[in-house]
Amino acid sequence: MTPDPTEVLRQVFGYDAFRGPQAAIVAHVVGGGSALVLMPTGGGKSLCYQIPALCRQGTAVVVSPLIALMQDQVAALRQAGVRAAALHSGEDREALASTWRELREGRLDLLYVSPERLLGGDLIERLAGLPLALFAIDEAHCVSQWGHDFRPEYLHLALLAERFPAVPRIALTATADPRTRSEIVSRLKLEQAGVFLASFDRPNIRYLVQDKQDARRQLLAFLARQRGHAGIVYARSRRRVEQFAAVLAAEGHDAIPYHAGLSPGERAAALERFRHDSGVIVVATIAFGMGIDKPDVRFVAHVDLPRSLEAYYQETGRAGRDGLPAVAWMVHGGGDVPKLRRFIDDSGADSLQKRIEHGRLDALIGYAEASSCRRRILLHYLGDPMAADCGNCDICLEPNPGMDVTEAARKALSAVYRTGARFGAAHLVDVLLGSGSERIRSLGHDRLGVHGIGRELDRGQWRALFRQLIARGYLLAAPDGHGGLCFGPEERVRPLLRGQARLEVRLPPAARERRRGGGDGVAVPGATPGTTATGGADPELLATLKLWRLEQARQQRLPPYLVFHDRSLIAIAERRPTSLEELSEVPGIGQAKLSRYGGAVLDLVQRHGAAT
Ligand code: ADP
Ligand code: ZN
Repeated sequence: MTPDPTEVLRQVFGYDAFRGPQAAIVAHVVGGGSALVLMPTGGGKSLCYQIPALCRQGTAVVVSPLIALMQDQVAALRQAGVRAAALHSGEDREALASTWRELREGRLDLLYVSPERLLGGDLIERLAGLPLALFAIDEAHCVSQWGHDFRPEYLHLALLAERFPAVPRIALTATADPRTRSEIVSRLKLEQAGVFLASFDRPNIRYLVQDKQDARRQLLAFLARQRGHAGIVYARSRRRVEQFAAVLAAEGHDAIPYHAGLSPGERAAALERFRHDSGVIVVATIAFGMGIDKPDVRFVAHVDLPRSLEAYYQETGRAGRDGLPAVAWMVHGGGDVPKLRRFIDDSGADSLQKRIEHGRLDALIGYAEASSCRRRILLHYLGDPMAADCGNCDICLEPNPGMDVTEAARKALSAVYRTGARFGAAHLVDVLLGSGSERIRSLGHDRLGVHGIGRELDRGQWRALFRQLIARGYLLAAPDGHGGLCFGPEERVRPLLRGQARLEVRLPPAARERRRGGGDGVAVPGATPGTTATGGADPELLATLKLWRLEQARQQRLPPYLVFHDRSLIAIAERRPTSLEELSEVPGIGQAKLSRYGGAVLDLVQRHGAAT
């Protein structure tokens, strides 16, 4: 008889209900269907194949690209009493032999393998003779040659469809853009599979963006409200990573650098610290990312613009996987933009690729300089539009209607027109500010009526305004591709020029005021997630529980979150259960954990109650 998925969810994983499309996916796969699952990071992809693995006959084979990820998954499943093992290059001979034996004897519910391992050697042959529950292909976007995580071995996974036509295959990814999606379908031969798309919203993540003035000082001010929390700080280059890590360490933060220039051993050690200790901050380039499934990362900070809005979403998605409040924080200054533009222009890519890259950058800037709900912009871009503002981004929390810049926008448009619609923003700003530079004079632009008519804004503000005019379609890149600007569609531009339309945008404060202002920029209410994350939990009991968890984790050489999630400990400290039955109601405590740890936890709760 097939076990009931909801029962398995409850008894093994300790959760009451499926989330979003999980129930539909599980039913589909348990019934023998193949599936493509698109779900944000932290959305709950693992259960989509783990539960069918337990409901169906035979072993489920899970293809996963990273050893750390496999180890975590296997350890978590074993904690939940599930028979799981991994085959990868990091296993010692003895462990391998016992995994083979268990596999042969049908004593494994889930087998995790790297793609190399699955396709090399004779594993496929061996599997062909065994009952198989399903194949799960995790991080399926690795099959996409366009993406940043391309893994050539993934291309060969297509043979699973031919060799095992009767075994359901489920591909999972957090990358949802249509091109990647269709590439996964065709390369993994999933044309017949059901497609399941979860909402990409991560409501527990608070998005905050500050105007970049002094990134170092602003970061320290932000981190002062995050003391004791684990987080990731992304910077663009190795050099910046080293600098920021040193600054944070000097300020007493437990910060470690991570980038591709470190030796594999150093990187492994950094990752290990991050996973096993609490409150470690990793300062990293994008080399640090995929495969970090630590659930209690409380913040992700960007001191430089990320590569794209997709990348930003992936990176910030590493915060708050446990569903508790988390923060995605970024500083952004217009000064970075020209550098990035030049970088694209000098990249040697063909013109189509350059146009795509510029478009990506525009989207990113549109987000960073938004004057309306950031989450709406983000989700709209990801193809999952929201019907209302989110209430949990800096703009929603601190509405700032922006200023009326209609007059300034008209001056900007005149400057474009009078100079022949072929100059870029930098030059146009020079004209508006009345620069007397050599170039301006040699072009005769100091004799134009628009020369020097824009002194009410400073350079940074003008640049921001030009970006907004581009983002809103008043200005376009001139067709010659030399970075000049020309007018957008007439029906867009004319009403503004004629005074029939108004324009409001948020501009950065003038440089003069910024220097005077001093403070750490926008002080956003409630930017400390820790204060709300623990709700009504007794803080002393929670601390006692965390200490106990650390001890358990050390004994088993596991990261603490594999013993219990914060979420479970918080619920215990809130409810103070007095019986195993009450304890079993706490989310994340299935039967295995209940019988293994239940007595000790109840004991702690009781002793704490007696002491206070
Ligand atoms: P993903 O692989 O999509 O990033 P995970 O599978 O790691 O996400 O799940 C993220 C977190 O959500 C995990 O801590 C998991 O235990 C939890 N989770 C998943 N599904 C449920 C559910 N139905 N109820 C409660 N928690 C869940
Ligand atoms: Zn919002």
